[in-house]
Amino acid sequence: MEPSGAFFAPWIIYALIFLSNAFLPARWVTGYVRHEHTGELLRYRLNGWLTFLLMIGLWFLVGYQHWLPWDWLYTWRWYSLAGAITFGLIFSFAFVLPFPSTGKSFLADFFLGRPENPQLWGGRIDAKMWLYLIGAIMLELNILSFSAHHQLTYGEDSNKGVFLAAAMLTFFICDYLTFERVHLYTYDLFAERMGFKLGWGCLAFYPYFYSIAIWSVADLPNPGTPNWVLVLLGLLFLLGWTFTRGANMQKFYFKTQPDRAFLGIQPEYITDGKRKLLVNGYWGMSRHVNYMGEIIMAIAIALSVGYPTLLWPWLYPLYYLALFIPRQIDDDKRCAAKYGSLWQEYEKKVPYRIIPGIY
Ligand code: NDP
Repeated sequence: MEPSGAFFAPWIIYALIFLSNAFLPARWVTGYVRHEHTGELLRYRLNGWLTFLLMIGLWFLVGYQHWLPWDWLYTWRWYSLAGAITFGLIFSFAFVLPFPSTGKSFLADFFLGRPENPQLWGGRIDAKMWLYLIGAIMLELNILSFSAHHQLTYGEDSNKGVFLAAAMLTFFICDYLTFERVHLYTYDLFAERMGFKLGWGCLAFYPYFYSIAIWSVADLPNPGTPNWVLVLLGLLFLLGWTFTRGANMQKFYFKTQPDRAFLGIQPEYITDGKRKLLVNGYWGMSRHVNYMGEIIMAIAIALSVGYPTLLWPWLYPLYYLALFIPRQIDDDKRCAAKYGSLWQEYEKKVPYRIIPGIY
């Protein structure tokens, strides 16, 4: 492969994901966000799993037929990263410049974005959901190639922690795809605009940075982590997942079928007569226990690669801290403005922000 081929590889992969997302069979669903002008609930066409399987299948075909080595995305990672960064920048400008200013400075508009929920062809392609799909699939391709590189280099004496981290990240991606519809009810969809943060974030940052634990040890020898430690780390990861997925699902059911019990927990809520806030189950532990779950999962991934004194794998959970602390503060402000005194009542009942009993 030529460097230019590696540079444009993410462009080609992103274009294939676009075509698959737009034209393969999909299910239409009604979302949570309303059109900024008409006020109607937006519709989405979701086929994340199908697109994912097609792209992973293509990756296997390319390796199996020896068209490219299994680890080509590792060998050419810096070039493909440069291509993804460039594509992300062009995309961000294309989604900010043509749209009217939000009243903030140009830099703020560029970073945070201008249009709210751009869609193509009546929702056949939703820009945000397409971006998340790209991030997830490109991340999976990177993980597969980076782990393949490790296996090809060390063979029998490979670091099992690399494959455990790959399995955890794959689980994280498959979880997203399985609950793609639940994502329509999250902050990114209803509170964020399309610009550099979301666009460049999903096209360049998400698929490359989230693989940092495996990226940084793929060329290092087996540290010999005992199996029982790997098992414990696998359990820690799953524990984190139960907080994240549990909280998201409890809220999703509460918004869509308010009287439905979740995991046997009947929803308890406070209300001002018009609006309701959950106060039990996951939403009674802290106001964002889902963020805590995500941080626990990231710590398990960082530790599983077996180099606890190496800085790089730790950047992943540290990034989550930097992401979720301000996000929780922003979300609190947004909810205080939306729910008024009901939110204050919630804060009194559930005083912790993220970690129950601590923060
Ligand atoms: P939440 O899913 O926590 O959504 C917050 C919103 O939920 C609030 O704005 C409010 O919206 C509603 N809400 C808050 N409290 C209550 C309550 N007590 N009862 C009912 N509704 C409530 O946060 P995010 O959207 O930020 O995150 C969604 C998921 O995505 C999380 O699991 C998060 O960890 C994950 N995530 C993962 C990332 C990653 O890189 N791995 C990055 C970002 C998020 P409303 O006004 O609609 O009521």
